[in-house]
Amino acid sequence: TNDFLRDTASDALETVLRIRPALSPGECSEGFLTVNSGTDVTIRHPTRVGHGEQFAFNTVVPLTTTQREMYAHSGAKMIRSALDGQNCCLFTYGASGSGKTHTMMGGPGEDAGVLARTMEKAIDNDDEYLVFASFVEIYNERIHDLLAPVNASTKRAELRIRQDTKGPFVGGVHQVQISSAQEAYKVIDAGRRNLNIAATRLNEESSRSHCLFVVKIAKRMTQHRWGVSQICFCDLAGKERSKNIGSDAKRLGESKTINKSLMQLGIVIEELRNNQKNPGSVAVSFRNSKLTRLMQSYLTGNSKTIIIVTVSQNERFAEETLNSLKFAASAK
Ligand code: ADP
Ligand code: MG
Repeated sequence: TNDFLRDTASDALETVLRIRPALSPGECSEGFLTVNSGTDVTIRHPTRVGHGEQFAFNTVVPLTTTQREMYAHSGAKMIRSALDGQNCCLFTYGASGSGKTHTMMGGPGEDAGVLARTMEKAIDNDDEYLVFASFVEIYNERIHDLLAPVNASTKRAELRIRQDTKGPFVGGVHQVQISSAQEAYKVIDAGRRNLNIAATRLNEESSRSHCLFVVKIAKRMTQHRWGVSQICFCDLAGKERSKNIGSDAKRLGESKTINKSLMQLGIVIEELRNNQKNPGSVAVSFRNSKLTRLMQSYLTGNSKTIIIVTVSQNERFAEETLNSLKFAASAK
């Protein structure tokens, strides 16, 4: 069965739009994006494609939204389901520089992102729960463990996708038990550091990785039985625009791979929606990219998904912004 989209107030799929505030004077293009209500935005871009188009979300958060409020609009809405045994998926989608990593990972203290705040909630409760974390990146269709010890002299091991009755998973990945908020922050930081070390050493760009942080929650049911649910937090690579790709063969290949996997994700979400309307009407094409294969377990069954779309207000990024808004519109 596939309850991907239920006709209830608490949708199985929710879309949230966050518009990044200007980081420098003049960065914001006045009137380019208009928030009509808490659920709708319009692009105004005279003489260009998309002008006047309106896009609907479950929530469009105000520009002044803090990291804490952002959590309330996203992670907080799924943590109860996860603790009750449902798989959940939360991902950030948007152009490079639009605020995906800031929203998901954030910074120290009050700047902490949705991931750390949701983990804190998973750890901080009275019932008997065990919490484990794993953290991988998919770079150019290769999977690497971000919690594996970094060894400067060797190539990073590539992990393979395995499959059991519950679905695909990353074989041999490190799973770290987390029992305090402090440990959660440490693990997130260690993974992010490894991502940056690897990217620097290999002359790669960390923004070209999809990062998947999976929180496994085991709840004691009886003395010998545990109920397990998982939340997949996914900080996606930004779609690459054609004019920025250039002619470098390696970069070109990577860009194509990123765009293909993001396109596949869009297709998968549309197929899930179609199946919801007409059960069993199409076979969902999870297998066409590593990203969608790994997300399969979190997108099917009785799962809850939240998509946070991030955009900037700068008209210069109109092409990317339009693309991101369209992605979410097809998802809603
Ligand atoms: P992405 O991951 O989409 O490439 P980042 O999250 O790295 O983008 O954001 C780009 C820059 O903008 C970073 O310096 C980040 O700290 C800043 N930033 C993003 N979103 C916000 C926000 N809502 N408020 C303040 N600064 C932000
Ligand atoms: Mg990023």
